[in-house]
Formats: sequence, C-alpha cells, structure tokens
Amino acid sequence: MRKQIAAANWKMNLTINKAEALLNDILTPQIKLNANQLAVFAVPFPYLQTADKKLNGIENFYVAAQNCYSKKSGAYTGEVSAEMLQSINVKYVVLGHSERREYFDESNQMLAEKLNVALEYNLTPIFCCGEPLSIRDAQTQNEFVAKQLEESLFHFSKDDLQKIVIAYEPIWAIGTGKTATSAQAQEMHAHLRKVLHDEFGKDVADSISILYGGSVKASNANEIFSQPDVDGGLVGGASLIAEEFITIIKSLK
Ligand code: PEP
Repeated sequence: MRKQIAAANWKMNLTINKAEALLNDILTPQIKLNANQLAVFAVPFPYLQTADKKLNGIENFYVAAQNCYSKKSGAYTGEVSAEMLQSINVKYVVLGHSERREYFDESNQMLAEKLNVALEYNLTPIFCCGEPLSIRDAQTQNEFVAKQLEESLFHFSKDDLQKIVIAYEPIWAIGTGKTATSAQAQEMHAHLRKVLHDEFGKDVADSISILYGGSVKASNANEIFSQPDVDGGLVGGASLIAEEFITIIKSLK
C-alpha cells in the first residue's frame, strides 16, 4: 500500500513560542500511526531543529522544510541548501508550492534542479503541482498539470521518481475555503497517475503517494482521503489549529 501522508504547511506563520505550543497540543493525544501513515510538518526554517527535537522518537512524525535552493552551496545570500537541511536531520522538503511559483517565479525547469539536489542529499521532496482558476475554467487542467510533471519530473529514473511525493493543489482551492469536490480530486489524481504510468510504467505509478491540497479541514478530510487515488493531504490553514490537524491525521486511510 502507498504511504498515506498528512502534511502540515505552516507557511510564514507563528512565532517560536506559538509553534512549540501548537506542536505540543498536536502531540499530546499521542496519535499512533500505522507503518503506512506519516505526519509531516513543514515549518519555517528557523524552527526546524526545535520541531525535529519535539518529534524525535515519535514514530512516523517528521519535519519538512518549505523550500531549498537549486545550487549545492556558494554565494547565494539568504538561500538554504539541501545539504544544510540534511545536516540537521530534515527528511522532507516541499518544492514548487504555488506560492513559490507565483511570488518567487519558480519555473518547472528550476524545480527540476531543486528536485535533483534534494534527492542528491536524501531529502524526500513533496512536489506540488496544480492549476490556476483560469485553466480550470478553460478545462485544460489535465494538460497543464501533465506539463508540470513532464518538465520537472520526467528526467528522473524510475528508482529516483519513486522517492518523490506529489501534492496536487488546485490554486483556486488554496486558502480560499473552496475545496475541490472529492470527485474532482479523484479525477485529477487518477489522471496524474496515468501520466506517470505512461512515462514510467505501472509499478512506479502505483507506488507514488499523491496528496491533495486545497482547503482540507477536519470536516472534509475523511471524504477526500477516502478516494482511491488520494493518499492524504497537504494542509495549510487547518494545520495551524491543533484539533483540526489531529482530526486530519486521524482521517488518513
Ligand atoms: C497549502 O498551502 O498547501 C494549502 C493547501 O493551503 P490551505 O489548506 O489553507 O488551502
């Protein structure tokens, strides 16, 4: 069975005290995950080590970075490398979030480079894709998202591709309260799996976790996660509220 993942994306929110309090509240009920389930917390860079210490020893709970740079090291003031993340025990990194694509001009090609360097330093990328509203309205979302996969992922070998987690996040559903219906999510996830199948074969397509992101909350997680091709979620707003995220973790298949 594919890994089922509840991934929190805190974005640029919370001070360190609030971040610690939130993690404490989420960890208090001592949720037991089975071997196939993971909870991942994409926290701001300055909180990675604090969060990692809190999660240390809790089975299947991990921290993630929200980004890393495409170069290995050097004169890139303000950037954070994959090797730095590896050196502080980070195991996951979110790459290609639509906010980074939009505000920081991250292209599919640049993301291909970031993915390369992440894998080189044994980080598991959570690679985000998804279409804006104009593309959904024009009903060309399948082609749009396939191109994102093609330009960022198709250069990988089968072995390397299987190390990547994909998050489908329709931009019109991020932070808007507008969730894709579970049928829309399933339809796109099945399409993504077909795109992977056609390029990499059935084994690869069947083994890759594809998360849904876009206004997932406690009240809809169960319905969305129960879709056959949805393997959990990448969660923004609701991951900042302990009771919400606890329910979301508990909704994993
Ligand atoms: C996200 O930022 O990845 C996200 C899905 O946000 P939200 O859950 O708030 O829509």
